[in-house]
Amino acid sequence: RDYALRCIAALTAARDALHDAEKSLGDLDAIAGDGDHGRGMVRGIDAACAAASGAASRGAGAGAVLAAAGDAWADNAGGTSGVLWGAGLRAFGESLGNHHAPEASELAASVAAFAARIAELGKADVGDKTMVDALVPFTETFSRLAGEGAGADAGWAAAAREATAAAQATAALRPLKGRARPLAEKSVGTPDPGATSLAMVFGVFGPHLA
Ligand code: ADP
Ligand code: MG
Ligand code: MG
Repeated sequence: RDYALRCIAALTAARDALHDAEKSLGDLDAIAGDGDHGRGMVRGIDAACAAASGAASRGAGAGAVLAAAGDAWADNAGGTSGVLWGAGLRAFGESLGNHHAPEASELAASVAAFAARIAELGKADVGDKTMVDALVPFTETFSRLAGEGAGADAGWAAAAREATAAAQATAALRPLKGRARPLAEKSVGTPDPGATSLAMVFGVFGPHLA
């Protein structure tokens, strides 16, 4: 139960961050995409927060809260990123289960489940200039540090720094997946919107989930 409330706090922190970033994420997506990334992330997280609170008020544990949040995100966000975030959150919740606050190694397994679901659905590789470019370094860093016995909080913070740096580094790349591909050259010099928002959300999740 306690950890379910921490999951809701994580989603609420992401909601605040995404509302603040709505315009800048939309502007990034307008350079080579269709400009709706900020709007889509806000619609997704708003629906996710409402669904998570509803599930918790009916007594759901952490895993079921995140699964409900993911389903609502996918149904309401629209766009490629919404489908991927929604399915990823559901996979995270299913991996986490409902029983107790996770150890660092269990949390690492749930992050890996999130990443695997997104890779499976989106089929993007590292270097394709998508959210995967921030997600893979996050997942690898967090898993490695958890395996070395680092605390979940320290490991998460270090992984979030890696994800932020990796998101910024996508500026040098040409998009090979998604809507930005036809205008790939225009995108060079600015970071991928989905990688940017992923690093942001994982950054604010940290103090709550880890
Ligand atoms: P849409 O492109 O449908 O308008 P958004 O603008 O919300 O959706 O999201 C765009 C982001 O989605 C991109 O910046 C990229 O990070 C991510 N993305 C696009 N295609 C893929 C894919 N196949 N796998 C992973 N992420 C992807
Ligand atoms: Mg878009
Ligand atoms: Mg769109």
